[in-house]
Amino acid sequence: MFDTLETTFSEMRRCVACNLKNGRTQVVLPSGARDSRVALIGHAPSGTDDATGIPYTGPAGEVLEELLFKVGLRRSNLYISNLVNCWPWKDAGGTLVNRPPVALEVKTCTALWLQREFALLQPKALVCLGGQAAQHFLGKNFKITESRGAWFDLPSTSPYAPLFDTLPKVMAVLQPAYLIHLQQHAPESYAPTLELLLGDLREVKRVLEDA
Ligand code: SF4
Repeated sequence: MFDTLETTFSEMRRCVACNLKNGRTQVVLPSGARDSRVALIGHAPSGTDDATGIPYTGPAGEVLEELLFKVGLRRSNLYISNLVNCWPWKDAGGTLVNRPPVALEVKTCTALWLQREFALLQPKALVCLGGQAAQHFLGKNFKITESRGAWFDLPSTSPYAPLFDTLPKVMAVLQPAYLIHLQQHAPESYAPTLELLLGDLREVKRVLEDA
């Protein structure tokens, strides 16, 4: 059968390839424009995303949408996916809470799905939401505090490189949820960090308009 993002998503919905199949409500399918030149890539779905089936919902998603709106972008014009498509959770005294995915979960899910998504979508730019996603594409030495907001070439040695007709540019931005953390724990840093995020997203908008 001719491979499309739609057929990919319909197979992804039934995926049981890693341990994250246990306890999920549903696979959180990528969302947004199927022809976007820009792909936003996060680390993993949250518990809220697990309930809605949509990446970046709940408080983090609201912040992301507000930031995009402020710079004149809409999430419906962007493609949004994650390194893993099922909610990684742990039991914290009877309450299920988010945890980072382990390396094998990321390796399994990206090899099965994200690589296939990129081959079909052919994005010109990958925007990593947070340091973990950036390190996945740019290497473990990538430091988001030092290098956010700058465009990098996807390394030609990356396992993703053979998937692209033209290698995409890669940029990391701070996790939108970080703003929520700052509001609660370091309010003096909120405004300058908000400006950093908005500046980086304006650069994403420029690339989207030039593509
Ligand atoms: S996280 Fe990815 S590989 Fe694991 S079960 Fe979900 S869709 Fe499949």
